[in-house]
Amino acid sequence: MMEKIVSLCKRRGFIFPGSEIYGGFAGTYDWGHLGVALKRNITDAWSKAMQDHRNMTFLDSSIFTSGKVWEASGHVSGFSDPLVVCNVCKEKSRADHLLESVGAVADEKLSDADINKIFDENRDKLKCPKCGSKDFGRVRATNLLATSNLGMFEDKDEQVYLRGETAQGIYINYKNVLDTGFVSIPFGIAQIGKAFRNEISPRQFLFRKREFEQMEMQYFCHPNEAMDAYEAWKNERMEYYRKLGINPDKLRFKPHENLVFYAKAACDIEYEFPFGWNELEGVHYRGDYDLSQHQKFSGVDMQYYDEDTKEKYIPHIVETSVGVDRTVLMVLADAYTEDTLGDSQRIVLKLPPKLAPMVCAVSPLLKNKPELVSKAQEVFEPLKKEFGRVVWDDNGNIGKRYRRQDEIGTPWCIVVDFDTLENNTVTVRDRDTGGQERVQISDLSQYIKERI
Ligand code: ATP
Repeated sequence: MMEKIVSLCKRRGFIFPGSEIYGGFAGTYDWGHLGVALKRNITDAWSKAMQDHRNMTFLDSSIFTSGKVWEASGHVSGFSDPLVVCNVCKEKSRADHLLESVGAVADEKLSDADINKIFDENRDKLKCPKCGSKDFGRVRATNLLATSNLGMFEDKDEQVYLRGETAQGIYINYKNVLDTGFVSIPFGIAQIGKAFRNEISPRQFLFRKREFEQMEMQYFCHPNEAMDAYEAWKNERMEYYRKLGINPDKLRFKPHENLVFYAKAACDIEYEFPFGWNELEGVHYRGDYDLSQHQKFSGVDMQYYDEDTKEKYIPHIVETSVGVDRTVLMVLADAYTEDTLGDSQRIVLKLPPKLAPMVCAVSPLLKNKPELVSKAQEVFEPLKKEFGRVVWDDNGNIGKRYRRQDEIGTPWCIVVDFDTLENNTVTVRDRDTGGQERVQISDLSQYIKERI
């Protein structure tokens, strides 16, 4: 199924392989017209859900920061994945993923010695995913931070990194946001932006990329209220996916078994991707670790002063963190359907109308009849103005247009025919059922609004 989704995305202009004309560049993809629209609908839905909180603020911090940020955060010393190289074909793999595939429990956070021990115990079962050899080298931790030479002119300049997550930009601006005077504890800072990771083996299309986008929210609270906030955010985020129209049977919580030393609680929201259950979003109660670390490294007081209680403390943080790309993949996988409509087989993306790149397509029944074309233009223009995501489609016969719109997930196809010239009604064809009904042109806007 993954190959079918990848192929549809390229064929219809959602997503193209990065640097394709130069043979590709692993872990990168470029977004075409429909991909941009789908992605925007997803980021809009997330922003709207965050904005519904009275005490939510938004931020757009830099991709480049002082290198000290990543020392304080622990990424320079500890942000790594266990790499193992096949001695025969030199394929690089994640040791924890290989171990998981044979049912061994191995955490990405294990020490080098521990993961090597587990790897050795399972060597007879492990095979290189590329050449099938059982001959592997030692497992070693490989740092995921991508480095840069931006602004580095002298050898002694501090190392610069591309950000490995957007969250650090939020922590280092927490004081700025607080000092604006618009918020008091508890409050959240939400941000959408690019992140970069030197993933050992980027794979599964949008699931694991080297350049990707995150939607992260950090919620700053009183230590006594943080656990309740964690539970509330966990449930809210699950409810959000259900309301978005994602199949609830393919969503589940997975509590973290081995918490990092500073975390108080953590779980993943998992989705059943075509290649199995995997993390979609992380919800983490991180204690006061992040602000304490930045206080220690920067020397800036990160405490919050509560005017009412006269209490001073470092806020605890609950984080929700999800990838835009991973969400797009989930939405596509959830929507991809092959079915039979009438007597023909078709591919259809049953996307929730709110997320579909195009809400409707407008067509004249015949493109060589000027009276139909000009009437269809009259229908198209105001809809385009109102909804934006409206496409003009007069290519090929009507059956072909329906198939094409099905493949890109357009919920409604509006066709102007000879009856339209008589009575100002059009045919509206439903993507999922193929059913058609006549609707007055003047009612079209309301018809669509009610169904989005
Ligand atoms: P994984 O275990 O899959 O590597 P992670 O636990 O390292 O993920 P986090 O650091 O918690 O992930 O990142 C938060 C979210 O960002 C993830 O839940 C995922 O949706 C997204 N994400 C992380 N790494 C990638 C990547 N390489 N490509 C696409 N999305 C990613």
